[in-house]
Amino acid sequence: MVDIKAIARETQKTIKLYLEDPYMKELKCKIINVYWEKGGKAYLTLNKTIFHPRSGGQDCDLGWIQNPEYKLQILKVLDVEDVVVHYCKLQYGDSGRIKANSDVKCILDWDRRYKNMKLHTAGHILDYAVAKVYGRLVETVSANHSPPNAYLEYKANPPTNEMLKTIIEEANNIVRENREVKWIWVEYEKLTEIAFNAPNLARLPKSERYRVVIIDGVNGIPCTGTHVSKTGEIGEIIVTGIEPSTMGFKLHYNTN
Ligand SMILES: [Zn+2]
Repeated sequence: MVDIKAIARETQKTIKLYLEDPYMKELKCKIINVYWEKGGKAYLTLNKTIFHPRSGGQDCDLGWIQNPEYKLQILKVLDVEDVVVHYCKLQYGDSGRIKANSDVKCILDWDRRYKNMKLHTAGHILDYAVAKVYGRLVETVSANHSPPNAYLEYKANPPTNEMLKTIIEEANNIVRENREVKWIWVEYEKLTEIAFNAPNLARLPKSERYRVVIIDGVNGIPCTGTHVSKTGEIGEIIVTGIEPSTMGFKLHYNTN
């Protein structure tokens, strides 16, 4: 059994390029460590990565790590204390050639990632539309921004049909206006100023700096997910259902 926490302890932190450019689909980089498991499966760490790990309600990216001698298919990507660990299966080639310091090329499963980017950005827009319609900050207690079942769970009574209609309208107005989505890095003091209405400030882990995602005209949200750069890319936000939950209600949604 490979101890993933031990891998993180003995590996340098990974440079997370998906935070700087979510549209990067390929990357040349170096293997830092390889830990083999039975059945041709291995845990790989890289000096830098374009693969978003499973975190913040967004499912992990998939794709391939390869060079002319071998090809690995990614099965899972995990973030362990800022070390991104890629769990892979050997598709072809000699496993003995896969070692530290090898040059490799990463190829992202872009269709999967782009859908996650659209859903994730749509989630922020829905948070905004819900707050606007309820006339107050509505706390998000859980979220999943990935297929097949994207949802947001709010700590509030379910909306009436009329309220829901307005939420959908407000959200799609922002999509149609094709607003800019950008991100900035800030220190904690600045964070409370920029993201004063963010639904999850109290739950944020302590950090030296925070990444705040800002949709033009919408309150900033601390987030390390991947987003589209213009809201128009989402196409359309569709609410597929409202379900009462123990904490409040779940709003199931999709993009088209
Ligand atoms: Zn986000």
